[in-house]
Amino acid sequence: MPRADLHCHSTISDGVLEPADVARRASANGVELWALTDHDEVAGVAVARQVAESLNLPFLAGVEISVTWAGRTLHVVGLGIDDAHPALLDGLASIRQQRIERAQGMGQRFSDLGYPGTYEGALRVAGNPGLISRTHFARYLVQTGQFSHMQAVFDQYLKDDGAAYVPTVWPTLEEALGWIHAASGVAVIAHPGRYQYTELQFEGLFAAFKDLGGQAIEVNTGSHNPGQFQTYGDVAKHHGFLASCGSDFHGPKESRCDLGEVPSLRQDLTPVWHAPAIAARLA
Ligand code: AMP
Ligand code: MN
Ligand code: MN
Ligand code: MN
Repeated sequence: MPRADLHCHSTISDGVLEPADVARRASANGVELWALTDHDEVAGVAVARQVAESLNLPFLAGVEISVTWAGRTLHVVGLGIDDAHPALLDGLASIRQQRIERAQGMGQRFSDLGYPGTYEGALRVAGNPGLISRTHFARYLVQTGQFSHMQAVFDQYLKDDGAAYVPTVWPTLEEALGWIHAASGVAVIAHPGRYQYTELQFEGLFAAFKDLGGQAIEVNTGSHNPGQFQTYGDVAKHHGFLASCGSDFHGPKESRCDLGEVPSLRQDLTPVWHAPAIAARLA
C-alpha cells in the first residue's frame, strides 16, 4: 500500500506553506501519493501538480468543500477533480464570497469584544485574501500576542457557538457532490469523527451521501485519534465506502500530524485510489 496523504492545506487556503513547498515537504517526508485539498479553492493545484511531477510524486487535484448538513458544517473532499471545470469553479467562488461576508461579521464581533482591527489583521495574515478562514483570525491574534495559542482563540471565541463566530449556511451536500461529480472527481466525507451529529443523523448522512453518489470517507486522518481509525474503518466496511487517509496538515508548528505521518489504512479496507475515476487518472 503506498504511503498516501490525500488531505492537506497551503497558503491558498488556511495552510502556512506555499503549494510548491507543501509538494516538496510531502515528497521529502516519503509520501507516495499526494493530493492538495485547500478549502473552497483550487488555485494551488496547478503549481502543486507541476512540482509533484518534477519530483515524480503521483498527484491528485483536490479540494475541501464547506457544506451545511443538518444545521452543521460538514467538510466534503473532492479527489481527482478536473480543477478547471466551470461548475466547480463557480460553486467554489460563491463559497468564498460567503466567507468574505462572514469574516467581516466576525471582525465586527471581535471589535465589540475588545479586539479591534482583527478583520484587517486576519486579511494581512491570509496568504490569499480571497479565501479568509477562522484560522487566519486565530493566527493573527496569536501572532500579535493577544492569545498564547490558536486553540485558545477557538475555545474562547471561534468555536461553532463562540461569541465571535458568525454562523453561515454553506451549500448543500447535493450541490457540493454535484460540482465534484461534474468535475469527474470522487467525493469523500472528511474527518467524520469531528462532527457533533447524533447516531441517527450520522446514519442519515451516510445514506444521503451514498444516494448522491458519494463513494468514500476518511478513516485515517490527523483529525482522528487511533480509536477513531478503528471506528470509521468499521463504518466504511459496513456502508461499503472506500477509505481515504490524510494528515490534514496546515503547518509545521500547527498540525498534530505532519505530511505523510498518518498511519497506513487497514489492509481490509479498499483505498479510495481504487475508485475507477482515480485509478484512471493515476494510470
Ligand atoms: P472555517 O473554514 O473558516 O470555518 O475554519 C475552519 C478551520 O479552522 C478548520 O479547517 C481548521 O483548520 C480550523 N479549526 C477548526 N476548529 C479548530 C479548533 N478547535 N482549533 C484549531 N483550529 C480549528
Ligand atoms: Mn483548515
Ligand atoms: Mn476539515
Ligand atoms: Mn482540512
